[in-house]
Amino acid sequence: MNYVDRVLADIDKRYSNQPEFLQAVHEVLESLRFVIDEDEKRYESNAVLETITEPDRQIIFRVPWIDRNGNTQINRGYRIQFSNAIGPYKGGLRLHPSVNLSIIKFLGFEQIFKNSLTGLPIGGGKGGSDFDPKGKTDKEIMSFCQSFMTELCKHIGADTDVPAGDIGTGGREIGYMFGHYKRIRGLYGGVLTGKGLSFGGSLVRTEATGYGLIYLTREMLEANGYDIAGKTVCISGSGNVAIYAVEKAQQLGAKVVTVSDSTGWVYDPQGIDLAALKEIKEERRARLTEYKKYHPESEYHEGKGVWTVKCDIALPCATQNELTLEDAKILVKNGCIAVAEGANMPSTADAYKFLQTNGVLFAPGKAANAGGVATSALEMAQNSERLAWPFEKVDEKLREIMVNIFHKIDEASKLYGLEKDYVAGANIAGFLKVADAVMAQGAV
Ligand code: NDP
Repeated sequence: MNYVDRVLADIDKRYSNQPEFLQAVHEVLESLRFVIDEDEKRYESNAVLETITEPDRQIIFRVPWIDRNGNTQINRGYRIQFSNAIGPYKGGLRLHPSVNLSIIKFLGFEQIFKNSLTGLPIGGGKGGSDFDPKGKTDKEIMSFCQSFMTELCKHIGADTDVPAGDIGTGGREIGYMFGHYKRIRGLYGGVLTGKGLSFGGSLVRTEATGYGLIYLTREMLEANGYDIAGKTVCISGSGNVAIYAVEKAQQLGAKVVTVSDSTGWVYDPQGIDLAALKEIKEERRARLTEYKKYHPESEYHEGKGVWTVKCDIALPCATQNELTLEDAKILVKNGCIAVAEGANMPSTADAYKFLQTNGVLFAPGKAANAGGVATSALEMAQNSERLAWPFEKVDEKLREIMVNIFHKIDEASKLYGLEKDYVAGANIAGFLKVADAVMAQGAV
């Protein structure tokens, strides 16, 4: 059995109860075959694949907090420190009832390659909890965040591990966690990113993942002879990534016609009203059913359905495995030319393969949504310098990083005779730097 197959068989056996983690590992290792084949002995004798698929450390802990009735509630907290081969662990904290070890491991594993692609010195990690922030009061959120940080603070630091936001963790949660870290550790440093602007946050961090997604999508379209202006775009989700993807796509002349949340979706043929969307989601933290009050001519549908709307570009920005083979078939039938992932692993493996074989340009999340973590690294740089850069400077750096990522993955795909396979390109380009660092640092 060759090296890749042996490692995959071993991981399949060992982690059969971690489907999301296995899905992510298969996707990456399958596309590394050409690279490994070139120098199999060296990779195998250094156990490079085993090293990058086994986290450095997995921290799991109890999170007790007090609800509005004075009762104690218990959740489970996680921090997976996956790889610090090229820099301190870096990756977000997800707060959602679906969170489990498999999901956090898949996200941490993806983060290794994403962070490598940014060209910045950051390793891979991820964390979170099965806590559900929906419907909680601010006091309950604070109680949870402080308890979560009471344990997490033992394991993180500006030069060791720097968490950030993700699903369910926005500016409010990062603020509470930062405040509590500062109180317990007595340190005012860049230990979390996504901080408020008044206490060390970076301009553009809020917009970064959505903006970065559109910068990369535009570059991919242009490299293939298309212009983003005038295109019809379907977006899923209505959280941080989705909102700023809508904003930048509209600024560049595209028309976004859908958004969604976990209960339903909106189709507005006139184009999504960004101000209304921000008011509903960012200010009132309400459901998308409210959108119809602003635009009675728009449609609201319960459940899933965003990908049934005819579009040129599809941008899944909600959660993992939300774009299935059935959805991919409809997108192809409707003449979609490009899919770029704002969320992490939103397309199932059979879906993205179907899109690719039917000529749809496909940018995987680890490249397309890397703008968030890249700007987090810029926040770390500003914190170390004790400086705050202007919006234009950060935005320009973000744009440059996303353009570079596209060309890196494009070149890597061409180098291995896999032209336009940006999934393989992203995995290969991300892997090469990490593998080099792993081998140079010896058996650690
Ligand atoms: P938010 O919590 O701000 O928004 C998530 C959105 O997705 C909401 O509209 C939410 O609906 C919807 N959603 C979440 N879970 C589900 C589900 N199981 N089924 C249907 N809809 C769901 O998160 P973000 O925008 O920050 O993150 C979205 C994705 O982007 C995630 O995959 C995340 O890992 C990824 N990402 C985020 C980055 C960032 O900087 N924030 C960076 C890189 C990747 P509802 O409100 O109803 O729950």
